[in-house]
Amino acid sequence: MKRAGVIGWPVSHSLSPRLHAFWLREYGIHGAYLPLPVLREDFSIALRGLRAAGFAGVNVTLPHKEAAFALGDSSDDDSSAAGAANLLLFRDGRIEARNTDVEGLAANLAAEMDTAALQGSSAVVLGAGGAARAAALVCARLGAADVHVLNRTRQRADRLVAALAPVALAQLNAGSLDDWPALASATHLLINATSAGLRGTSSPDVALDALPQDAVICDLVYDPLETPLLARARARGLSCVDGLGMLIHQAQPAFEAFFGVRPVVTEAVRRHLEEALRDAG
Ligand code: NAP
Repeated sequence: MKRAGVIGWPVSHSLSPRLHAFWLREYGIHGAYLPLPVLREDFSIALRGLRAAGFAGVNVTLPHKEAAFALGDSSDDDSSAAGAANLLLFRDGRIEARNTDVEGLAANLAAEMDTAALQGSSAVVLGAGGAARAAALVCARLGAADVHVLNRTRQRADRLVAALAPVALAQLNAGSLDDWPALASATHLLINATSAGLRGTSSPDVALDALPQDAVICDLVYDPLETPLLARARARGLSCVDGLGMLIHQAQPAFEAFFGVRPVVTEAVRRHLEEALRDAG
């Protein structure tokens, strides 16, 4: 039996076990995908145990993504650029570190919006953690000419921009949330990559009235699916992209690496996860 899982702390809220179990059933694969709650200080010893137990690899979530990258014997371009890995593969006695958040967000935006309209335009990313790093890389990759990274703690945005500037294809700018009003009218894509809006908390307090009518708002938070930010954007008639699509798309290459089949992203898998979110709420 092929085995994999998601390692984090806490991990009980993760939808990944539901998602991978759905695909294991759908493709008739004899495999298992487990939630693996592991404290920060136990991460490397837990990895050793999972390798010894014959796991194919693990997805990695908070707070271990940077440690996962550091422990890899090799890394792909996206994890090197992000300085963080969300996928570790145990192959031939070595650990391969990968980051599929970048690929997952890019694939989801390509599925949900007209990315050609992003060419040469301006994008704003709120946040400066791991998700914001992935989002800034994706905006640049999809052709935005300017990417503004705005964070509550300005110094973290400065650090993110300094780290990504050598690899990003766009002009990256750091700022604080106070810079938003001056940027809104020229923004084509706004991505919330903060954790604000998660499970009953308020979304970032950014006014949407000055955004162009064809602007797209993407929220990486998927619990709830309709965050306060997306609800305001929808009320203003703007196009919205929620965080669930990214979650499904980032899992696609991971499932393929663990179990040897590339799953298709369908409406059925999305509905299954929407039900799980409703049950949990
Ligand atoms: P992280 O490293 O902990 O960073 C959190 C960020 O949110 C920081 O920039 C922090 O600002 C900001 N923040 C927190 N509370 C805030 C508030 N009340 N107002 C304004 N800013 C606030 O987390 P992460 O790994 O980047 O993840 C961020 C979010 O993305 C999480 O909700 C996560 O679930 C989601 N995510 C979704 C997917 C997906 O597949 N859809 C994938 C990855 C992550 P400071 O620096 O000032 O503290």
